[in-house]
Amino acid sequence: KRRKRLSAEEYANGIINGDRIILSRAITIIESKLENDILLAEEVLEKILPYTGKSLRVGITGVPGVGKSTFIESFGKYITSQEKKLAVLTIDPSSQISGGSILGDKTRMEELSNDPYAYVRPSAAGSALGGVNYKTRETMLLCEAAGFEVILIETVGVGQSETTVKGMVDFFLLLMLAGAGDELQGIKRGIMEMADAIAITKVDGDNVKRGQLARVEYQNALHLFPPSETGWSPKVMTCSSVNKDGLDKILDNIIQYQKEMNEKGYFFSRRQEQNLHWMHETIESYLKRAFYNNTDVASQLDTLENQVIQNKVPALTGARRLIDIYNQ
Ligand code: GDP
Repeated sequence: KRRKRLSAEEYANGIINGDRIILSRAITIIESKLENDILLAEEVLEKILPYTGKSLRVGITGVPGVGKSTFIESFGKYITSQEKKLAVLTIDPSSQISGGSILGDKTRMEELSNDPYAYVRPSAAGSALGGVNYKTRETMLLCEAAGFEVILIETVGVGQSETTVKGMVDFFLLLMLAGAGDELQGIKRGIMEMADAIAITKVDGDNVKRGQLARVEYQNALHLFPPSETGWSPKVMTCSSVNKDGLDKILDNIIQYQKEMNEKGYFFSRRQEQNLHWMHETIESYLKRAFYNNTDVASQLDTLENQVIQNKVPALTGARRLIDIYNQ
């Protein structure tokens, strides 16, 4: 049975009042690709915008198996134990295969999911590389308007999604394993360079010595990067999500970062830049979609593609002709 469609006003009020059912429904609308939903979502976003911006936005990345979901569960519980309201936006890698189902994620972060201070929203990875949902940023804004004070955004550490998430968070935390070379972990130098801190995971039991060695190694590796203009030097820390070790130091480090960046004026200037950047990104993706959805373009696309493949038309000319068709 279809639920009654709420108005933008009703969605916005529900979200601002912290109604989680309405929040979840609004996120579904945000993620929808239907034209009607897209328009409604924009209306809702406009209404809630004055209530956004008050949270601490943290991106968490690392290769599969590094311990992201276990970490987010423990770290999240630590945050909520301080009576901070926490939203976790996770991506579900399995959904890429199963095509949008979020069932696979239900067993992850079980404790956190049942925590009254926490809201866990698994998103289907969709077509975006590495799984950042293309509406993760808007989902984050809804959660902020609903009063969540800390937002954790999880991504799988494979590359492109890191750049996207880095562009929407205040702090970017990279999880790494001890004892496996960087190459083995598939962590690119560029991702290490993006990190505001690195946490070495699973530093417990037999792994403690190795973890401490790795900490020094990575700290030295970070010293080789050029210093950031903000003056922040990323720290390498160790933790165990199982023993709940080192989680306090990681949170302290993030809060220290927020404090320093606030004092230096970088915190909000960065968010302003991110907003602007996001607008331009969105323009690009809207234009691209409008272009390829244009029926005249679509009807000529095959022909021109073939001509370009066969070297009968230069790629530039092919592009220009299609754009001319679009602009007619
Ligand atoms: P993800 O793929 O990055 O989300 O990794 P998971 O959180 O699913 O963890 C991968 C494996 O590492 C699981 O078998 C976890 O039980 C294990 N693991 C995660 N955190 C820790 C930890 O702090 N200590 C130990 N010993 N094992 C851990």
